[in-house]
Amino acid sequence: MLIKRTPDRYDKLQILGGMAAADDILTGGKADGHGHTVNAKFAAGTVGRGPNRIAYSDPGKNPAPGIYKASMPNGKKINLMRVMFTDFCKMDCAYCPNSIYVPRKRYAFKRDELADTFMELHGRLAVDGLFLSSGIAGDGTKTTQHLVETVEIIRKKHGFKGYIHMKVMPGASRELVEKAHRLGSRLSVNIETPEPDMMRRISPHKDLQQDILDPMAWINDLTRESSGGAVGQATQFVVGAADESDRQIYRRVDQMYADWNLKRVYYPPFRPARHTPMEEKPPVHSGREHRLYQMDWLRRVYQFPTTEIDLAFDQSGFLSLEQDPKTVIAMENLDAFPMDLNAVSKDQLLRIPGIGPVSAGRIIENRRQHSIDNWRDLQAMGVVRKRAWPYVVFPGQRPPSGKQLRLDMFGEAQDRRAAESAGAALPPPISSKLASIMEQPAAYTTTPDHACIPGSKGAMCAGCPINPASLSANYKN
Ligand code: SF4
Repeated sequence: MLIKRTPDRYDKLQILGGMAAADDILTGGKADGHGHTVNAKFAAGTVGRGPNRIAYSDPGKNPAPGIYKASMPNGKKINLMRVMFTDFCKMDCAYCPNSIYVPRKRYAFKRDELADTFMELHGRLAVDGLFLSSGIAGDGTKTTQHLVETVEIIRKKHGFKGYIHMKVMPGASRELVEKAHRLGSRLSVNIETPEPDMMRRISPHKDLQQDILDPMAWINDLTRESSGGAVGQATQFVVGAADESDRQIYRRVDQMYADWNLKRVYYPPFRPARHTPMEEKPPVHSGREHRLYQMDWLRRVYQFPTTEIDLAFDQSGFLSLEQDPKTVIAMENLDAFPMDLNAVSKDQLLRIPGIGPVSAGRIIENRRQHSIDNWRDLQAMGVVRKRAWPYVVFPGQRPPSGKQLRLDMFGEAQDRRAAESAGAALPPPISSKLASIMEQPAAYTTTPDHACIPGSKGAMCAGCPINPASLSANYKN
């Protein structure tokens, strides 16, 4: 966007609110750095290269700059004005399009100006809440002070009582974190990377412990100790920026969920930004982001213990891109399957791929009335048949040995990862073929001498995709 005159507050909203997809921390969309809107960071230029390059100068993409739909913790959707106080940043985070490396004109709101703009939009019923972020102008404390003073005007002068999500800048003082906690509905400090040495590598002037983890611990204390103020905090990584493994991310996430009142963690994948030291680094596969969200769900919602989630990582510490983590864990625990849905606990039901908390609840409710003995019933309860079928047995069927189900899908994924990192020839992609074969449950027939369940003992039905003969035939091409 080219602005020749002095920008007014609407120009600034357009630039600093941006025209990009909303912050990951709001919607799971594309974000970077502090979770700033990618487009907002670039008044001129583009983020990324090649197919992942993100255009930022298409006004048609966001006719209402800076306003995004966001889901609240209660599931309600609201219009959020998402804006940066300034896109100036004196930091040198090597992945960030907002860093000092990027030559472009920067903009900043004045405190009153931003507060008035928000209140005007709120008065017109265009927005219900505010998400306020910033680059680091000066230092973390000074910038957080600007944000706090802006929110103070909105709360005290204008009497706004609605939702305000404030970023706390890395390095903010405890005093300002306390003020932010009193004013905000939710706070977030972006962790970006899991380990201190990684932080030193990609953000040389940030100290993970002092600048990020300490403020997060303070927010946790404040949230626990006081009845008012922000009700929780969130954070986000820039996945792949420091070449960290998924396991390293998980270790940090596990610690944060266990120790602090963390509401959410977001996993936007690294994308190269022009003019930064990482502009030639390849973008991270978006499938990795998806798997990390699935892992997060297992940890946060299903409350799988670490010992179980550990099974989802391969030897290099990565989640499979081919199989979701819950399926990988189930395949490592095949002795526990198949399960009789009429007999197992809710915790056990949650171990079955294709069964989530809602469908597990429905199964428990329904089985109080009648035995669950067919797929039609299960599908009506929300069970995903194509994922669940190898792991379920109905009354009257003879359960097979779990060992029979122990197909080497997970092991093969590990082999592929190891071969890839060693630069060796890749083994054939067995698991994807097998996965697609396994997604064809209809081909089964029951024979008198054994229950027709994948992996059942004894003679296999002809044509059964789990029959070793079928498998080897399928693997030959
Ligand atoms: S602190 Fe680092 S990540 Fe945040 S805006 Fe500045 S350069 Fe980007």
